[in-house]
Amino acid sequence: MLTLDVKLGDRSYPVFVGSGLLSGVGGLLGPRLEPTSAVVISDHTVAGLYAKRVVNSLAAAGCKAALLEVAPGESSKSLAVAGQLYDQLSALGVDRQSAIIALGGGVVGDLSGFVAATWLRGLPFVQVPTTLEADIDASVGGKTAVNHPTGKNLIGAFHQPRLVLIDVECLRTLDKRDLHAGLAESIKHAAIRDAGFFAWHRERADLILGGDEDVLAELIQRNCQIKADVVAADEREVGLRAILNYGHTIGHAIEAESQFGLRHGESVALGMVAANHIATERGLLDPDQASQIRELIERLRLPARLPHRLDANALGRRMRHDKKFVAGRMRFVLVDRIGQARIVDDVANAEAADAVAAIQP
Ligand code: NAD
Repeated sequence: MLTLDVKLGDRSYPVFVGSGLLSGVGGLLGPRLEPTSAVVISDHTVAGLYAKRVVNSLAAAGCKAALLEVAPGESSKSLAVAGQLYDQLSALGVDRQSAIIALGGGVVGDLSGFVAATWLRGLPFVQVPTTLEADIDASVGGKTAVNHPTGKNLIGAFHQPRLVLIDVECLRTLDKRDLHAGLAESIKHAAIRDAGFFAWHRERADLILGGDEDVLAELIQRNCQIKADVVAADEREVGLRAILNYGHTIGHAIEAESQFGLRHGESVALGMVAANHIATERGLLDPDQASQIRELIERLRLPARLPHRLDANALGRRMRHDKKFVAGRMRFVLVDRIGQARIVDDVANAEAADAVAAIQP
């Protein structure tokens, strides 16, 4: 088992990465939380596959556990679904000694975290991610949210988990498309922070795509370490943490405008290619380095071009509704060279439109 710590003073927490950890949730939770009861929140798909293991492990550790299920997919990240969960927590008589355990992908993690942050002004919360996207990004860092009809993640709270438990075996049942989508965040972390890790991906692309569990465990651990370091330096995104939004300014707009037909990670991959267009046009990023990022994106089975045309004006409107639109200016993360990025907040509408045109089919 690989471990690392997210260092946030008295709110620090460990991240465990290994195989077969689901059956040990109860034992790993006990010494840190000692909850009298726990509520496992999952989606129907993940609950069918893994909830029994987690609930049994909690029961064996003397913790009474209830299971609440939501429908799979982004539509569950809503105030309406959060409201249904509040009703169920109330009916269960959940108190502040109870822990919320998010078992699922980023949707379940963001939704459960938001419910844990807000119910009774905050319940202890544990992340048990089951997608690569959630393993390497969503489960670490304490950002929780639901969507508003005008934009993604507009309603949310910072609420750090008390523990993150990543069982690599869960990836065996994950759809290949979702596995590849998760790899976009890994390319993102490497491109903005770690040139050596970027090269690591290029050398191991076949093993990654083949699902080698030792390689995936290392990939997850290295990503969590990059994210943990950034979050420890800037928990509330007043500075450095914003570089994690590389690929997300256009990516979020694409994800929403495709009516979530494109996965989050696929949209981020497209957003990174579009952001690189701005960076190369500005003379910040060497075109050869932009090509290396594009090649890795395609090698790891991610799109570098939209599969079908999206309305550029609609994408522009969505970008202006995003949290990254500050004081009338569009904020982008631009890579200067692989391993290093900067935040710019002076991107004009026309420049963003050119970047969108560069990824249209
Ligand atoms: P997801 O949670 O929708 O999961 C994708 C699909 O995989 C779902 O249908 C789910 O039921 C299924 N699934 C999950 N685990 C499985 C498994 N082990 N085996 C089989 N099927 C499984 O999508 P996601 O890509 O994990 O997360 C995307 C969400 O995460 C977005 O809403 C995004 O905004 C959010 N996110 C949040 C952060 C953050 O910092 N909070 C970071 C990145 C992404």
